[in-house]
Amino acid sequence: MDVKDVILELRTKKGLSQDQLAERVHVTRQAVSRWENGETIPNTETLKLLSKLFDVSINTLLGSPRQMVCHCCGMSLDDSTTSKEIDGIFNEEYCKWCYSDGEFTLDFWKRYVELGGEEKFEEFKKQLICEFNALNVEGMPKVESLNVLSGSFINLEYELQNGKKVKFLDDNATYLGNQLPCEFGGERCFGIAANMQFLLVCTYEANGTNPELVIYKKR
Ligand SMILES: [Zn+2]
Repeated sequence: MDVKDVILELRTKKGLSQDQLAERVHVTRQAVSRWENGETIPNTETLKLLSKLFDVSINTLLGSPRQMVCHCCGMSLDDSTTSKEIDGIFNEEYCKWCYSDGEFTLDFWKRYVELGGEEKFEEFKKQLICEFNALNVEGMPKVESLNVLSGSFINLEYELQNGKKVKFLDDNATYLGNQLPCEFGGERCFGIAANMQFLLVCTYEANGTNPELVIYKKR
């Protein structure tokens, strides 16, 4: 949908004339008319006002050009699941369970249970367990359970061949994961972590030292 159609539809739904909308967002009626004719689009400041007035994200106002994803848990976002700042402005980076009232909640999975019910959560965990086991990682025992883990505890830094160091997780997010012994014995064990977006398998020695990435796979 084009911006012009989105604005026209939202304005009509709200029962506002072009004049009334213009007044609410501090522009002229001509400006509104130009948006709806597709001649111009609102500037950034006006988009913010429109977003608040219509209670839709700026992404929606712009005709949904982006597939929005929560940067914390990885769930895909729509206007009903996108977080908001305290002043009611959408924060299009995060879902409302990971971020609310201006802060990271750090308990996405708890919120997920509240919302979808314990059953849905267990189903999702089972699904992830199946996906981990389907990876058939050599030496890794069958995954039986997953725990909620804070990103700040399991965000290991991997050294690439070129000497660069990378991290894959977000300290502010929570993940579902576990630690598993290696079937071949030895010092190293497996660490697994996942969210709605990806699966990660790594190995490391005691206390997460000398970590090596085995798999990082988008779901
Ligand atoms: Zn989230």
